[in-house]
Amino acid sequence: MTLRLFNTLTGQLDEIVPSDGKALRMYACGPTVYDYGHIGNFRTFLQVDVLRRYLKLTGMRMLHVMNITDVDDKIIRNASAAGVPIGDYTPRYVDAFFEDLDSLRVERPEQVARATEHIAQMVSLIQKLAEAGAAYKTDDGSWYFRLKAFPEYGKLSKKDLSGMEDGARVDVDEYEKDSARDFALWKAAKPGETAWDTPIGRGRPGWHIECSAMAMEYLGESFDLHAGGEDLMFPHHENEIAQSETVTHKPLARHWMHVRFLLVDGRKMSKSEGNFYTLRDLLLKGYKASAIRLALISVPYRHQLNFTFDGLTEATNAIDRLRTFHQRVTKGSFPAGSNPALQAAAGKARTEYMAALANDLNTAEARAPIFDLIRTANTAIDQGQFLAGDRDAILAVLADFDAVFDVLEDRDDEPTRRALAWAEQSGRMAEVAPELLARQSLTDEAIDALVAERTLAKRQRNFARADQIRNELAEKGIVLEDAKDGVRWKRK
Ligand code: AMP
Ligand code: ZN
Repeated sequence: MTLRLFNTLTGQLDEIVPSDGKALRMYACGPTVYDYGHIGNFRTFLQVDVLRRYLKLTGMRMLHVMNITDVDDKIIRNASAAGVPIGDYTPRYVDAFFEDLDSLRVERPEQVARATEHIAQMVSLIQKLAEAGAAYKTDDGSWYFRLKAFPEYGKLSKKDLSGMEDGARVDVDEYEKDSARDFALWKAAKPGETAWDTPIGRGRPGWHIECSAMAMEYLGESFDLHAGGEDLMFPHHENEIAQSETVTHKPLARHWMHVRFLLVDGRKMSKSEGNFYTLRDLLLKGYKASAIRLALISVPYRHQLNFTFDGLTEATNAIDRLRTFHQRVTKGSFPAGSNPALQAAAGKARTEYMAALANDLNTAEARAPIFDLIRTANTAIDQGQFLAGDRDAILAVLADFDAVFDVLEDRDDEPTRRALAWAEQSGRMAEVAPELLARQSLTDEAIDALVAERTLAKRQRNFARADQIRNELAEKGIVLEDAKDGVRWKRK
């Protein structure tokens, strides 16, 4: 089903189709690697993941490019505070970012592009802007974009910028949301700062030019879709449009997708408010990566997500329900035949699920028919009306659900172990929740051994020992399920 997605540029839902008839060419602004990513950042990357996974589920091919901003004001400030060159400062955060994406099961884009590896393309674009009379050099050797050279400035964010001052300049990467000023394309070298010797002088790029240069390098002068968090709409994306379209006279991207910022407990997330969380903070509190993923994607991208710990608990329970049901259907043995009512329910759930996602990626509405189907199928199983021939139909719907949501298989142990190893290395063990430490202190092998001992104790009618083992495991968050075919255990 063709996706209809809200387009900031046109102000309406537009159909997403590859203009070359082959693959969707898409650029999504990536992280600035000056610190660990927070859940706001990951909400945006996860919603882009939902977009690409849904498109792939409909059979579309993708050419998705993401940049890594590995030079900017904040990086330079932090690196200089740490007394190291930026090239020594950023790798740790680049690695951490990809580790976090893996924890959250965010698919890698087809192409990742680092700013510091594309300086030549940026310089060449600035030269073209200069030739077009849209870039000028100041006395200190910096280059600026002349806003007056691009009369369409403001068309994305719909800001009325008629009162903007000609020649007023701004040289910081991020600036006031209500003013439009000539912005820095290239910043002249300052003593002690990383700089490149180039035909336009010695210096380093501004933030905005990197996305224009790298997007056009990999996707051509005009491509299908550009995405990012809502804060990037102005000035970052507006500046990207100005820099690119002044040179190409073609729309940089036909479609612009912006993900709404999240709130935490109803307030803006900020370090000073004490409601600021990185992914690692939440893992160390004992929350599972899958629950964080589900909580961050279950509110559609254009709605404000109010992140709360209750929300995480709800996501944890929903995943439990999904996994238990999946196991029940996969492992159960059912009478021969197929139940037409269940077959119809499966078909309906899939249609509604796909339709909800096709409608501006409405993840909340997409979840509902899946959980309805689980309820219906569970009742059928309880009543002996779930038949062997229904299994594939139900599992196929779950597979489509999971192609986008990706929470069904329990892969939560690895992210948690990785976070614990990181806490140990970086002296943050004090931040780890005691329940998590207790839970992780048991290896899978140790649990298997205790479960085997309990089975033996029961067989020998030593129920006191069997109960003792069950309680001991429960204290460490290990839940036992006695099934016909043996005992299963899982970490809570
Ligand atoms: P940054 O690393 O700050 O450049 O941000 C990376 C991505 O995260 C960008 O697309 C931002 O728009 C997005 N982002 C930053 N803060 C939030 C937030 N609180 N909620 C949602 N997205 C955010
Ligand atoms: Zn960007």
